[in-house]
Parts: sequence; C-alpha cells; structure tokens
Amino acid sequence: MAFDRVIGQETPRERLMDALKQGRLAHAYLLHGPPGTGAETLAVELAKAVNCLEGDGEPCQVCRSCRKIAALQHPDVHVYPPASSSKTTRGTDTGDNDEDEPEDRSVRMDARTERRITLTGRLAEDPYTPLDLNKNDFISIDDIRELRQEASAKPYEGRRKVTIVVSADRMNIPASNALLKTLEEPPGALLLLLTTHRPHQLLPTILSRCQPVHLARLEEAEIRETLVTRFGTPPPKAALAARQADGSLSLAILRSAPEGERLYEKAAAFLESVHADNALGLFDAVEQLAAAHKEQPVVERLIDIMLRYYRDLFLLIVDPSITDIIHTDREAWLRQTAARLAPEQVETGIRALEAAKRDIACNAHLQLALTVLALRLRSLPAKTVQTVR
Ligand SMILES: [Zn+2]
Repeated sequence: MAFDRVIGQETPRERLMDALKQGRLAHAYLLHGPPGTGAETLAVELAKAVNCLEGDGEPCQVCRSCRKIAALQHPDVHVYPPASSSKTTRGTDTGDNDEDEPEDRSVRMDARTERRITLTGRLAEDPYTPLDLNKNDFISIDDIRELRQEASAKPYEGRRKVTIVVSADRMNIPASNALLKTLEEPPGALLLLLTTHRPHQLLPTILSRCQPVHLARLEEAEIRETLVTRFGTPPPKAALAARQADGSLSLAILRSAPEGERLYEKAAAFLESVHADNALGLFDAVEQLAAAHKEQPVVERLIDIMLRYYRDLFLLIVDPSITDIIHTDREAWLRQTAARLAPEQVETGIRALEAAKRDIACNAHLQLALTVLALRLRSLPAKTVQTVR
C-alpha cells in the first residue's frame, strides 16, 4: 500500500502514488476531509516521496531527506500553519493592520513567529496531532509573500520545492489573493499542498486551480489499531477513544490523553448538573467552563462532545434496547437521563447546543452564552415534570 504512514484513505493514496510514478503530479493539490483524517500526514509523505534520495516512489523514511522532512527541517519543504499574535482567544487581532506603531507590529510578528514554530513543532512530532487552533490564528499576506519568495528559488538540496499550507481556509482575503498569483503562474519546481476541513471557505478561484483530494472519515477499527500500535495506548482505552472519535484520529489521540479525559469529564459534569436538580451546581459548572476556556479554547470542542452525548440520548429514547451507543463509559447515567426525556426535547437540546456554538464562534460573551445554553438545556427535564403533573 502506498504512503504507509497514512492511516486508511486507500483511494487517495493510490491515486497520488500513481500520478507520482507516472510523472504527472499536478503542481497544486487541495487535501480536504474532516479534521484528523490525515490531510497533513499525506502532505508530509508526498513531500518525502518527491524528494526521497532513493528516487520517486514510496518514501524510504531513513534517508537524510526523508528524516529532515519528517522533522519539518528540510530547506526545500516549508510549512505554513495559521498563527496569531495573541496567545489566548480573547485577543482582538483579526488581521493585518497597517496603522500599527512599528514597535507593536514587530512585537506581534515575533509572537506570530513563535506560534508558528510551536505549531510546526507539533506537526513534526506527529502530523496527526490535534493543533487546537485559536479563533485568531490566520495565514497573513506576509506568510504568503514569504511563501512566494521561497517558492521562486531553486531547490537547495531536494528535487522539488514543497509548500504545505495548513488549514488553508484560514487565509484572509489579501493572503488568498496573493496565493492566487502563485497558483496562476506556478514556479516550475513547486509542489503546493493545501490542507483544510472547510474547503467551502476558500475562494472559488483558488479551489478551481487545485486538484481536490478527498479524505474520508476513518473506520473505528483503523483508529483503534493505530492508537495501540503507533501510540502505545492500552487496548481498552484505545477502544473507547476510537468509538468516540467520530472518524478522526486526532480526536482519538486527544481523547486518550489526560487532557482529553479531563475534557470529557467536564462535558459530562456540565450535562449532569443540567439534568440534575441542582441549580447552584449548574452555575458553578458554567463558571468552571468559562475559566477553563480562558486558559485554552476548549468550549467549541466541549459542545461537540455534548452534541455526541445527545446523539446517544436520542438513540436510547427511541429504542432503549440498543447496545451501540458511543459513550459506553457513561451508559448508566445516559439511560437514567434518557428515561426522563422525550425525543423532541433532545432535539431542542441539540438545537440549543448548535446555537451556542454559533454564538460563541461569533464572539458572543462566553459566560452569558453558556448560561443561556444551560438554562435552555435545563428546561428540558422540567417540562417533562410539568406534563406528568
Ligand atoms: Zn528517503
């Protein structure tokens, strides 16, 4: 199987390997699919394949070139992840601002460079690592100018220059227009690889100039096996994480790490206090979530987790005899809660969660948005009590 570091994705792997062997690789590809399905990994493997010292084909993984590319330290392979000049989500930085004092601008440039180095380092460790981008992380016109300059130089030691733009949907408009120029007149030796899980957010003119490569959600078994064999996760933990990962290896990696465990605990604690008769505990839970979010942008991820809890609740309400729920680790609580709810109420809950996600993405006041969410979700069991009376 071609590109054996990539998990699953047989069709795109074969397609790219065939193109490579026949010498008909396009100059630009858009690798797109749900987050954590391997777009960045495939990009890195392709960069190795076109520069491997053993020649075009399956990268050998051991030559000087393959090792440098794996470490993302090859002079002809450049990675551009989105970055922000503020480290928390609370910053107001949304793009280039020409009215900055020169000093402010250089401080922000330093902070962006630092962030880019951190994110590139994470990708070098393992390109499946979840990046946890901030809302303010973006790709600037300065990044694309640098990219264009690098791309126009001859390769230093490889056969082909490769540029990987990670989460390309995070390019702002000036950056997109600058990249378009490169796509219209690509320098001869450049292979441009864009990754994204939101292709519809890219300019149509960019989409039309890249060959699309679609990556599908991974199978639960593929994720489970990879966690055990590649990341040394104990099998029971790997099974649970794979089940809850929604086809994303990155999410499964997070789920099986202590950080992810805490995230699931928090989501469950929040929902438990929503559905328990404990108003005070609920406001505590809101405060804790808001405080955690200030340290790291976790709320959107938490809402995604809660949405999947509601999926289980919905299934259990429709058919209490089902056995294939996702959160087998909280089955007793899910069954208890499901017994008190009607399907329409879960539907309302799902809508409330989606609305909260949208509001938070649009910069709503976090604590307020969470309080509204909690109250909307909380009105669910109360309604049941009313109808019973
Ligand atoms: Zn090699």
